[in-house]
Amino acid sequence: MTTVGIRQFTYQALPMRVVFGPGSRKHLSDEIATLGLGRVLVICSPEQRDLGESVSADLGDASIGLLARAQMHVPVELAEHAVTRVADGGAVGCVAVGGGSAIGLAKAVARRRDVSIVALPTTYAGSEMTPVWGETADCVKTTGRDVRVLPRSVVYDPELTLTLPISLSLTSGLNAIAHAVEALYAPDVTPVIALQAAEGIRALATSLPDVVADGQDLLARSDAQYGAWLCGTCLAATTMSLHHKLCHSLGGALDLPHADTHSIVLPYVLAFNAPAVPGVVETLASALDSPQPVLALRDLSRLANGPTSLRELGMRAEDIPRVRDLALRSSYANPRQVTPDAVESILRAAWAGEPPVVET
Ligand code: NAD
Repeated sequence: MTTVGIRQFTYQALPMRVVFGPGSRKHLSDEIATLGLGRVLVICSPEQRDLGESVSADLGDASIGLLARAQMHVPVELAEHAVTRVADGGAVGCVAVGGGSAIGLAKAVARRRDVSIVALPTTYAGSEMTPVWGETADCVKTTGRDVRVLPRSVVYDPELTLTLPISLSLTSGLNAIAHAVEALYAPDVTPVIALQAAEGIRALATSLPDVVADGQDLLARSDAQYGAWLCGTCLAATTMSLHHKLCHSLGGALDLPHADTHSIVLPYVLAFNAPAVPGVVETLASALDSPQPVLALRDLSRLANGPTSLRELGMRAEDIPRVRDLALRSSYANPRQVTPDAVESILRAAWAGEPPVVET
C-alpha cells in the first residue's frame, strides 16, 4: 500500500435528493408531496410533449399544466413566459422532464421566483445536479451559479432514456465524461469528487458501447445514467477549464449542437493538457481501461458514426480566430498555460477531425 498524502481541501455537499432506478418516475408524486410542493408546472421540449403530457396527467391536480416549449440555451423571453405561467397557475414548483434545455428553463424560473425544481432527466448532460444556470439574450449567453436553481429532487428513471437517439446518447454521455475529466484536474477537486469522476467515467465508458449496440438495453442505460449522475456532481462541485470554455464559446458564437461539440473537442483538449497532469492521465487510463486515454475517448466518440469534426457540425475555417479570441477573453484555471497559438491549434485540429497528438 502506498501513502497518498491527501492535501487540504474544502468540500461543500449540495442539499438535494436523488431517487434512482428503472420505473422511479412512478415515485414523482411522492417526491412532490415529501417536498411539500402543492402545485407544479411541468416543463419539457416540444419534441417530448407526449412524455410531458403523461407526467402531467400522472400528477393529477398537483399539476397546473404543461409548458412544452423548452429550447437550447434558454431565451430570456421564454423564461419570462414560463414565470407568468407559474404565477398565473399558482404553482410553487416546476417539474422539468427532459435534458438540459427543459431543466435550464425550470432554472430560469427559479432564478426569478421562489419555486422548487424536481427534475426527471432524460439525457446524460448533468444539468440536474448543478446550481449553474444559463440564459440567452440578444444572441449572448450568460451563465452563473445560484443555489436557488439547484433541483431539490432528481428522479433518475433509466426507462426514460430508452428513446434517446443512439447518436445523442453517445455524445451526451461524452458531454458527461467531459465534466468528470475537467473535474479531475480542477483547482478545487477534492478526493470525494475525484472518486466520483473516475467511477462516472468508468460507468459511462463501459455502458455506452452497449447502448450504441442496443438502445433498448435497460441495464446499459441504467449504468450510463448512473455514470451521468456522478459526472453531473463533478460539474457542480468544481471549476471547469479550457474544454468547457471552448465548447461554451463554440455554442454561443456559432450555435453548434451542445453534445456533439463536447464529444468532438474533448480528446483534443485532453491531448493538450495531458503532459501537465500525469496523475490524471493515470486515473483516466484505469477508468477507460486503456493505456492511451486520449485515443480511447476519441474511439468512443466515433462509435455511432456521427460527426467527427467541427467542420461537419457547420463551423467554417474563418470562424476559428473568432472562437479562439472568445475562449481567451477571460482568464480561468487550466493545468497548462492557455496561449492563443495553443487554442488555435486545438480548434484547427478539431475542425479538421485530425488525430489528436499527445506531446511526450
Ligand atoms: P436537450 O435538452 O437540448 O435535448 C436535445 C433534444 O433531445 C431535444 O429535442 C429533446 O427533446 C430531445 N430528448 C431529450 N431526451 C430525450 C429522450 N430520452 N428521448 C427522446 N428525445 C429526447 O439536450 P442536452 O444536451 O441535455 O442539454 C443541452 C442544454 O443544456 C444546453 O443549453 C446546455 O448549455 C445546457 N446544460 C446546462 C448544464 C448546467 O449545469 N447548467 C449542464 C449541461 C448542459
